[in-house]
Amino acid sequence: MQPRGCKGSVQPALLAFCLMGLLFGHSPTHAERAATQYLQPQTQQPTVSRDVSLMSTRVVFSIVLDNNIDNSTDNNTTSAEKAIDQAINEFRRIEAVMSEWQPDSEVSRINRNAGGDAVEISFELFRLLQAARQISTLSDGAFDISFRSAGKLWDFRKATVPEPDQVQQAIQHIDYRRLELSAPAMDSEVSEQGELPKARISHAETSIGLGAIAKGYAVDRAAQLFRQAGFDAFSINAGGDLYVAGRKDENLWKVGIQHPRERDKLMANLPASNLAVATSGDYERFFIHNGQRYSHIINPHTGYPASDCQSVTIIAERAFWADALATAVFVLGPSKGLALVETMNGVETLIVDDQGEVVMSSGFQGTR
Ligand code: ADP
Ligand code: MG
Repeated sequence: MQPRGCKGSVQPALLAFCLMGLLFGHSPTHAERAATQYLQPQTQQPTVSRDVSLMSTRVVFSIVLDNNIDNSTDNNTTSAEKAIDQAINEFRRIEAVMSEWQPDSEVSRINRNAGGDAVEISFELFRLLQAARQISTLSDGAFDISFRSAGKLWDFRKATVPEPDQVQQAIQHIDYRRLELSAPAMDSEVSEQGELPKARISHAETSIGLGAIAKGYAVDRAAQLFRQAGFDAFSINAGGDLYVAGRKDENLWKVGIQHPRERDKLMANLPASNLAVATSGDYERFFIHNGQRYSHIINPHTGYPASDCQSVTIIAERAFWADALATAVFVLGPSKGLALVETMNGVETLIVDDQGEVVMSSGFQGTR
């Protein structure tokens, strides 16, 4: 993980704020989220942009045209539009594989067979599930895709707090180690025997959801498609998860991180290039009951919404990694979360703790 252009570059700033969406993994009836991150292009060059609802999130794709690639801006525009079409299809394809809400997805198939036989899955999902497991191990189970049994108890529309014994019961079903993954002997797209990897959940009442990682993964895939199409200056902003690419040594984008309690304020404004930024906060999806705020990130050890942070921003090379780590650090809280990030090369964090105090990793601190 090697973010460029971020170390030593954060300055507190107040900027006007625009709305972006975030959220993956909720039923389509769910209202779209407002934004946690604001992108400012630092260029006058023509840009092709599209704003579209994907994975229950407002996603904005922007490609900056480079007039040197081709003398005709028209041609560039057409190929940028095409690349954006491909990225949109890719988001939809990933959702169809990874959503826990679509009954035909691979993830739903794994969940339906919990306690039963292993099911065949794609290499793509296999690799993402392996990464999820790695983050669970690193975070000592703070990140756990089997959070769902407890997650289900918290209905944000009804805004009710479940009974303590229900929560107690639910956490018995959470354990990322219950997801068994097996790969065919050769880890290639198709093994010699044409075999696929397999996944099995060992306990019938345990189920998985990729709401904290799949959207980041889709952002990474879109970035890959843009590069393959020959573009090297673009942004993909999926609300809480974004990726920005800029030409070398050019601070093409500025990423603003929303203040968790004041909608119109930004916590930080950082020039960014060729890196991912993800923010998890308690201010988009939450309810308040008896003065206590309950948000959508669940501490798998307690079954209650994590409450040691107001927001966590992670900078990393890949968006799926930033996405999942933001959730992990949100659960771990400022001190353990910061300690985890400091062990990782090329990963930086900005944490707002439960009192509104800002804590930053060493790469951020240099500049304050
Ligand atoms: P958002 O979905 O708002 O972008 P996150 O990336 O932080 O925010 O992911 C939160 C989502 O992840 C929840 O809505 C839920 O689907 C899932 N989730 C909640 N708690 C955990 C957890 N401890 N580990 C893994 N996934 C979680
Ligand atoms: Mg996340």
